[in-house]
Amino acid sequence: MPRREATKKPTLTDPQATIWLLEDHLSEDLPLLKAHPTAAVLIIESRKAFAALPFHQRRLTFIVSAMRHFARRLRDAGREVHLYTLSDTPYRDSLSAIRDWKQRTGRRTLLLTEPNDHHTMTWVQTLPALLDMQIVIEPRGLMLTDRRQFSAWATKLKSPVMEHFYRRMRREHNVLMQGDEPVGGGGAWNFDKENRKTAKAAARELSEKLFAPKRPSFAADEITRAAHRDVQRVFSKHPGGFEIESFDLPVTREQALKVLRHFIEHRLPRFGDYQDVMLAAHPTMDHALISAPLNLGLLTPMEVIKAAEKAHQQGHAPLNCVEGFIRQILGWREYVFGIYWSFMPEYLQRNALKAGVPLPEFFWTGKTKMNCVRSCVKQAIDTAYNHHIQRLMVLGNFAALAGLEPKAVNDWFLSMFIDSHDWVMAPNVIGMALHADGATMGTKPYVSTAAYIDRMTDACAGCAYDPKQRLGERACPFNTLFWTFLDQHKAEFNRNPRMSMMLKNLDRVPPAELKAMHTRRAELIRRLESGV
Ligand code: SF4
Repeated sequence: MPRREATKKPTLTDPQATIWLLEDHLSEDLPLLKAHPTAAVLIIESRKAFAALPFHQRRLTFIVSAMRHFARRLRDAGREVHLYTLSDTPYRDSLSAIRDWKQRTGRRTLLLTEPNDHHTMTWVQTLPALLDMQIVIEPRGLMLTDRRQFSAWATKLKSPVMEHFYRRMRREHNVLMQGDEPVGGGGAWNFDKENRKTAKAAARELSEKLFAPKRPSFAADEITRAAHRDVQRVFSKHPGGFEIESFDLPVTREQALKVLRHFIEHRLPRFGDYQDVMLAAHPTMDHALISAPLNLGLLTPMEVIKAAEKAHQQGHAPLNCVEGFIRQILGWREYVFGIYWSFMPEYLQRNALKAGVPLPEFFWTGKTKMNCVRSCVKQAIDTAYNHHIQRLMVLGNFAALAGLEPKAVNDWFLSMFIDSHDWVMAPNVIGMALHADGATMGTKPYVSTAAYIDRMTDACAGCAYDPKQRLGERACPFNTLFWTFLDQHKAEFNRNPRMSMMLKNLDRVPPAELKAMHTRRAELIRRLESGV
């Protein structure tokens, strides 16, 4: 079928049209489900898609369980549901499952919400010709942003600025607004300067008691246990094997709502203060832990935003915390979705700083002497989760400074995290963390020496390296790599006024010391595979 036919508006000229539901559209608020309340639903657990990368076993179990729970929900509501599971061995991918569905039912029309990731969208458009059938695509999904409108704006600009987009979204959706002005008086849209408390302040001001009550957790039911067994059997070589007793993730809408309510009540009032802090004893700090269910559709972005806004209106949470949180959902999340759809598929190939160092093995094992990196990687292996500052300040920072190959780093992030999807990771990793996108997203790289990590974490105290040294065996690799990274890209960074302060500091490094740091950099990069 020609491309334009695949994207026409959904119709029910075929009364037997079936809704094909993808893994990240698990919501009864999905416009397609609402528009066709009696249509049958097709859900496919594709082995081929789940094997595209070495996805973490906890991530796969979470997704498969959520899909099966949603299938049951739809059946309980009276829908006819065709579910192809990992256990249905003949159906290794969506193509063979659809072929079977078509043969068994005699139907030939599928209604599909526009996929969120580019390769699925491209592949879906080849199906009608392959299978002699019709696929009607509904453009309205669960995001608040119209990808085509965003793209019309973003592709005209060298650097489409998030802050401009975010203010427009605040106005358009009337969130934290008083008329045409941001709430709080004084015209401030952003309260980040109030959200930068350090690790020492956190250790002083927080106590175990303040992190109570415990977050809600959800013991695996029979559906999740079966999903886990299937994942273990089919993807036994994937990282992150785990005992089912340790699984506590929300796999239904009701469970996801409990996580959201806990965050709003107990964590949001303090969320902003320590949002950039990383403490060993508190691996998730006050982060919401809703990104995984939100990205599958178990929660909708606007209900999350409205819950946080209401907490502020009722005097339960201060504006710096609420605004910082809402900016992540209404601003950043929607912005990365728009960036992804504006610049794919070439975005995935970008490598503006010509970084080409292979991803070291310790990203899969955690075997490194760098305490901050080790603790983040081990947490990722054990739980499939790091909070954003662990991802950005430690893992992304190291990858950028060491010049790791962007596609390999992106694939690692995509594989390891519970909330990962192609549209989420590509802009966050290639753009934000690695500055490999040629400054489309960030006007300067997010890199730092050990001094910043030492200020915002408690990792340096227990490390084999010294965060204050930049030369010598005990010198922290972040220091050596930071100064040599700046020097390597000096000509390019010189053209960027936002880099002038960093480059002035670089000019203060004595030339002989800089030369010695370059020698040590080469040595560190050589040793990455054997362990640093
Ligand atoms: Fe990380 Fe360096 Fe601190 Fe060690 S000294 S924890 S490597 S920043």
